Amino acid sequence: MRLFSCGKCDQVLFFENSTCMNCQQRVGYSVETADLVALPPEDAEGDAGIELVLPGGRQRYDEAVQRHYEQGPPQNGAESYISAYATMHPWEDWAETWAHYLHMVDTLETAKSHGLTVRVPGKGAAAHV
Ligand SMILES: [Zn+2]
Repeated sequence: MRLFSCGKCDQVLFFENSTCMNCQQRVGYSVETADLVALPPEDAEGDAGIELVLPGGRQRYDEAVQRHYEQGPPQNGAESYISAYATMHPWEDWAETWAHYLHMVDTLETAKSHGLTVRVPGKGAAAHV
């Protein structure tokens, strides 16, 4: 298990911590730095639980949902996102990407269970998926 530390008081923190129990600093997991980072004080409508700090910064989820359904996805969204829904908010981008990855793994496992083999050009023996 990886341990983290509070950037304010050096208290040992776990991934599950959303607040330092020693100094009450709010923390979130930064995907960019792979570390727990200090967050600004929670606003009145803040969510409880682990907060992911993704590249692109923080966006209020409820505002992102409203914007997405009012304005739709950005016109160039297909160039950078796996789905239109993934353009809505970094959390949905993360979830949609993992969902697609898991679907691909499921497909390969199903194919393997039915004996599917893949021949790689230039290789003598068949490679099994
Ligand atoms: Zn602390």
